Amino acid sequence: MPRQFFVGGNFKMNPASREAKRTLIKTLNDAALDPSVGAQITFRFLTVYLTYVPAVWGMKDVKVAAQNCYVKLSGAFTGEISPSQLADAGIPYVVLGHSERRTLFHESSELVAQKTRVALDNGLSVILCVGETLSEREAEKTKEVVEKQLEPVTQQLKEADWQKIVIAYEPVWAIGTGKVASSAQAQQAHADIRAFLVKAVSPAVAESTRIIYGGSVTASNCKELATQKDLDGFLVGGASLKPEFVDIINATK
Ligand code: PGA
Repeated sequence: MPRQFFVGGNFKMNPASREAKRTLIKTLNDAALDPSVGAQITFRFLTVYLTYVPAVWGMKDVKVAAQNCYVKLSGAFTGEISPSQLADAGIPYVVLGHSERRTLFHESSELVAQKTRVALDNGLSVILCVGETLSEREAEKTKEVVEKQLEPVTQQLKEADWQKIVIAYEPVWAIGTGKVASSAQAQQAHADIRAFLVKAVSPAVAESTRIIYGGSVTASNCKELATQKDLDGFLVGGASLKPEFVDIINATK
């Protein structure tokens, strides 16, 4: 079965106001979105807006995702949110392991793997981010770094769990920099991840798992990237805040 194209908008701590979010949602609701992408579009809102935005403004064809969750289900963890609370609030997805979490908040691959396990156990689907820094790429360590990030996850997950995982390959040097990976670089990294899944999990999981690309995706570079055979969609930061996000969703049209 062909893998269904998956597009996510990562709003991070943007845009500042509710009004700006309303404009974005309206643009999407009014646009003609590729029906084959359809239910595979997610928006990552800050927790405070997660239930508010879909309930108040209605979102057509779009699901919401949290940008993080904790590894525990309840207790004295001020400022954290548990996967069970997200699920209880009707949030279907969570993004884990984004490079900003790994770098700014010192999240290890082991913690990301534990969070993934707990999130799945509580009914969430996970968008799992991996990617190398510029110095790691220059040292030709991309494959090694990404495999090290994925390894603890493969140890935590059973084969059936992979149905609820989307892997986002996001080279750190491409995130928010305007320096997009070339389609050949992206294809190579995605093919390497798929080959790793064959070994570490199974050929069936490697074939069915979506691997999406993130890092300075725009309306002008998305079509070329989308032609790559192991690239199954996008995780979009800056451009998801602009009307051009519609063109990115429709990249394969
Ligand atoms: P960008 O961000 O599209 O602004 O590079 C991508 C991301 O952080 O997911």
